Amino acid sequence: MNNIESLTQEINTCLKCPLGETRTHAVVGDGNIHSSIMLIGEGPGFYEDQQGIPFVGRSGQLLNKILQACGFTREKDVFITNIVKCRPPKNRDPTPQERQTCLPYLYAQIEYMQPKIIVLLGATALKGLVDSNARITKMRGQWLDWQGHLVMPTYHPSALLRNPQLKRPVWDDFKQIVYKYRELVDPNHFSKYC
Ligand code: SF4
Repeated sequence: MNNIESLTQEINTCLKCPLGETRTHAVVGDGNIHSSIMLIGEGPGFYEDQQGIPFVGRSGQLLNKILQACGFTREKDVFITNIVKCRPPKNRDPTPQERQTCLPYLYAQIEYMQPKIIVLLGATALKGLVDSNARITKMRGQWLDWQGHLVMPTYHPSALLRNPQLKRPVWDDFKQIVYKYRELVDPNHFSKYC
């Protein structure tokens, strides 16, 4: 068994925080862990908890469309995970302590994957990984350095569903991600839109 398999097994049976007791499935991640882009959201919702896969509800469908517009597929070009691997009841925000308890799993995934680009989807991901006082409204759209990794914070797709005016800034952020991907990974990467 390699490291990532044993990590997956550990997450699937984890009871280190109270979220483990109420989940249906832990949600480890989806996509290609050998790709160059890691997307990090907040935590599983209802459908994600049912299926054990991140971003499968309406937010996930919107994320798939954004990725498609960038010329990426979630199967091949990205790996998607969350700050906490188990669903907070009633989709509440994970508490700082739950985030803290779960973070070593994310650190281990980052360590294994060594992504060239990390995309933080929403405030919880930004606060969880970078700085608990950070504001997504202030920091989105700017490249950050987190422990030698390039990080782009942007809004969570669910925020776009609530407020369509956020579509433009999110698309601007994803265009930057495509440009950086061309610079760092594949100069010939094709996107019809940018
Ligand atoms: S949220 Fe993370 S720390 Fe809490 S039980 Fe699930 S895997 Fe374990």
